[in-house]
Amino acid sequence: MKNITVLATGGTIAGVSHFPTDTVSYQPAIVPIDEILNQIGSIHSTATITCEQLIQIDSADMSHAVWLQLADRINTLLQQQAVDGVVVTHGTDTLEETAYFLNLVIKSQKPVVLVGAMRPSTAISPDGPMNLYNAIILAASPSAWGKGVLVALNDTINCSRDVTKTNTALQDTFKAPELGYLGYIVDNQPHFYRMPTRKHTYLTEFDIIGITKLPQVEIIYGHVDDSGTLACAAVAAGAQGLVYAGLGNGNMSQHMQNVFSAIQRQGIVVVRGSRVCNGIVTRNGALNDDQYHFLVADTLSPQKARILLMLALMKTNNPDEIQNMFWTY
Ligand code: ASP
Repeated sequence: MKNITVLATGGTIAGVSHFPTDTVSYQPAIVPIDEILNQIGSIHSTATITCEQLIQIDSADMSHAVWLQLADRINTLLQQQAVDGVVVTHGTDTLEETAYFLNLVIKSQKPVVLVGAMRPSTAISPDGPMNLYNAIILAASPSAWGKGVLVALNDTINCSRDVTKTNTALQDTFKAPELGYLGYIVDNQPHFYRMPTRKHTYLTEFDIIGITKLPQVEIIYGHVDDSGTLACAAVAAGAQGLVYAGLGNGNMSQHMQNVFSAIQRQGIVVVRGSRVCNGIVTRNGALNDDQYHFLVADTLSPQKARILLMLALMKTNNPDEIQNMFWTY
């Protein structure tokens, strides 16, 4: 049997509601991970499981400090011969961000699987137990090696780079809307149909050893008649980089072009992303990035572009090198 460590961070999978019919009104992050595991009768026949309660929070309270602690713990565990894979239980609200961060900083080919639930553990039919069972099956499977950090909920396997939460309340919420699932988990068996093509985990240039703080990068959401106030405030507050959740193909008004251009001239890295959920933000597409010295986020959502830009800024603020990272990861 494979040895799997479950690191618990809280979320709805550990949530408790007043009534078993409440699926959206409840308190997350209450039930300890050993209790959750004990509720799943057959789980100990799937793998030898050890668990650690790393923290017990609503994932809205996830922080860079916890990310660094979590990544450090996973790297340490996976260096051990005796550990075959890691499962992280997590609230679903920021699960995709933690997954992508780990996808860029974990130095191992062994499986790392993030899992959560949309219904609290006290619901009439909670999704957490089956999701966790499947995540452990996946983490114990040789087929999950070398595929980067994976997200497993609702019988599906997703790539951490592309996955996003698409519905506020339904169980069928984690998807890579146009790029698709990597596979399914059915009857104790992961089935893969695709591979992530971007570099991840042991193939990245990012190392968090000794890092205690990540560079400040803020997201500015694009809209009609944007005054630029928030972009300027972010810079005044010390941002080293900005990600613009732009219009369409990362487009912006004439006014915002002037605002961002002035910001870029102060040495702040400006990345054009999009508030549209799918598609590439193309370089020199909606506007001339070469002229403005802006970068583009490719298909990364603004929240994931922010993560890549933070890690990039730990290494360089050369725009060409950072743009290249956006094509690579
Ligand atoms: N608020 C919860 C959290 O992200 C939601 C969930 O886990 O589904 O921690």
